[in-house]
Amino acid sequence: MKRVILLGSSGSIGESTCKVARALPEKMKIVGLAVAKSTDRLLEQAQEFGVKALAVSDVQAAENVKSRLPTGAKFYSGPDGLTRMVEETQADMVLVAIVGTAGLAPALAALQSGKDLAVASKEILVLAGSAVMAEAKKRGKQILPVDSEHNAIFQCLQGANGKEVRKVILTASGGPFRRSSSQEMEKVTVAQALKHPTWSMGKKITIDSATMFNKGLEMIEAHWLFGLPMSRVDVVVHPQSIVHSMVEFIDGSVLAQLSVTDMCFPIQYAVTYPERMPSGLPPLDLAKLGNLSFEAPDEKRFPALRLAREAGEAGGTLPGVFNAANEVAVEAFLEGRISFPRIWGMVESVMQEHRTEKNPNLESIVAADQWARVQAKAQLGSKT
Ligand code: MG
Repeated sequence: MKRVILLGSSGSIGESTCKVARALPEKMKIVGLAVAKSTDRLLEQAQEFGVKALAVSDVQAAENVKSRLPTGAKFYSGPDGLTRMVEETQADMVLVAIVGTAGLAPALAALQSGKDLAVASKEILVLAGSAVMAEAKKRGKQILPVDSEHNAIFQCLQGANGKEVRKVILTASGGPFRRSSSQEMEKVTVAQALKHPTWSMGKKITIDSATMFNKGLEMIEAHWLFGLPMSRVDVVVHPQSIVHSMVEFIDGSVLAQLSVTDMCFPIQYAVTYPERMPSGLPPLDLAKLGNLSFEAPDEKRFPALRLAREAGEAGGTLPGVFNAANEVAVEAFLEGRISFPRIWGMVESVMQEHRTEKNPNLESIVAADQWARVQAKAQLGSKT
């Protein structure tokens, strides 16, 4: 039985994790839940799974929910409440599925308090990959990727030794503008960008899929998770999103992991690892699908991939700057303040202004993140 603390339980990954817990009651028990603001959903989940440790990071939302807590519940409020809950709650694994940098401290706290870490939030490894991987190694704890691509690679690597890997190949759907020209991308609307062809996800990650910043972040994550230089992290566009990623070995053989597009697959594998369990999830019918296709990504139309490689190669504070500037730009795009191509324009110019600090500590990482946000917002004021 795995006891799991779930941070970000009301989001799309959080809800899928609850689905897995519902399907595997004898394998998985949720023992802690955290949300930012969605307290109604938190209370429903706490009741359904009988969870006694609850956290709400938004101070106002935490204040409003206090009178409605289940009896005997231990309640943690405020931004550092998540970290305290992780430290004080007995569990085997912490699954971090919070958007943004708020997951960073609880992720490190999970490893430091002797728990395995299941990572769904990209920011954790993009910003602090070096620190997080070192902490896991020091404590002898696992880092289990929940992202479908990294989970696929993790599955393909079972039984392999690291020296046998030539490269990893991340698949990308290519998003809704895979076939659009640069001129067409100038006119992309928010509604068009929010229509993802294969996955149904939150707004931020859907826009990131359309710009391919999502794949860029995933390249940096893969670099840390699998200990490979950026030059050995490849991307191939695969519009059907059935092959979730691949590993190419030194003998030229390639292993891939395939399934229908449902996040319950990687979540379940992360939770039941190193075992596999029967699931009620739909099997893959390749004959019915008929075709799987692949093409090279176009880095001219999708500069996010090139920028990610630059950020990952430079390391230090630059990947965090890449991430933070993108967050500000995506928000501005969703508010209708900037054009679609301006997203990568802004990120590139903030990256160019940044003086990368090598081997930063957490404080410097957070400071660089803040700096990038200020720089990006300043650009919003001047040109759109
Ligand atoms: Mg992914």
